[in-house]
Amino acid sequence: MKITIAGAGAMGCRFGAALAEAGHDVLLLDGWPDHVVALNTHGLTVTDEHGTRAIRIPARLFPAEKDPADLLIVFAKATATAEVAEAAAPAIGPETLVLTLQNGLGNIEALLPHVPRHRLLAGTTTLGTELVGPGHIRALGSGETVLGGLGPPLHAERLRATLAAASLVVRAAPDPLAVIWAKVAFNCVMNSLCTIASIPVSALALYPGFDELAGSILDEVAAVATAEGVTVDTAGALALMKAQFDPAASGHHLASTLQDLLAGRPTEIAHLNGAIATRAAAHGIPAPANALITQLVQLLEATRGRRVASVHP
Ligand code: NAD
Repeated sequence: MKITIAGAGAMGCRFGAALAEAGHDVLLLDGWPDHVVALNTHGLTVTDEHGTRAIRIPARLFPAEKDPADLLIVFAKATATAEVAEAAAPAIGPETLVLTLQNGLGNIEALLPHVPRHRLLAGTTTLGTELVGPGHIRALGSGETVLGGLGPPLHAERLRATLAAASLVVRAAPDPLAVIWAKVAFNCVMNSLCTIASIPVSALALYPGFDELAGSILDEVAAVATAEGVTVDTAGALALMKAQFDPAASGHHLASTLQDLLAGRPTEIAHLNGAIATRAAAHGIPAPANALITQLVQLLEATRGRRVASVHP
């Protein structure tokens, strides 16, 4: 397939690498000039458990040329989806399938002006990847990708087979919105609390009030999901979170929101707890926990560099 990746950071490069190594014609589109130059000069450097290798994949800066792809995978941060969709639109032709596996709410809505619902697919991935520097990613362990079509399930199986043939662990799901909301529920608790406390995931286990705090966030997420026709299994979400406390699972992992904060990048909070608070207000549902969590993370973003580390700063 002719595949364009719009937003070729850590995850865009990870999927681009897998698909290019499976023989597809991949183009990486990104907005970071140093990254694009490094990709075209040295190839994409991938470090994983087998070592480090370089893969030749062409890269370009946005905007896309008017040259439709068979598949466009959007892997920008949720904060940039609308802008990236606009810049990638020339690569969307009358047959192009568009796939988003990004975190958070609002990505689908930002893509729908550019692709009809029956050619838009969405889902989640638990593959962990770091962008080490321009042109270089570190692929962390294994993870599962789940995807489904937003319209009739015409294309999901074909795309599942394409990704599976590229050595990705992938499953098609009949209701991608339920999959996305389940991950949003997870991230609204884990990402936000780990960021506010500035701790790795495993340290959450030390707080005796975790169930009550997580429950107050989750109940609001579930109420908004229900208002939008999606069921969120809050008990299942809580059990999944507690399974991550084990250092052997992802206990020592730093949540992506905390990584973004520490690296001085914008966080996706407005698309997690922030989106819950905004949508709750639109539905007339109270969501004080998610509204407060959003403000606390935004406070941390606004006061970067002013944190004190001792009583004698
Ligand atoms: P990323 O931060 O690696 O890249 C996002 C964009 O930021 C890219 O366009 C990249 O070029 C740019 N960028 C990164 N560092 C930069 C720098 N120093 N200067 C200029 N530009 C820079 O994003 P990601 O981790 O690939 O995430 C994409 C989406 O996938 C998000 O919604 C994220 O939540 C989701 N996701 C990520 C992971 C993961 O392990 N990385 C796992 C699952 C889902």
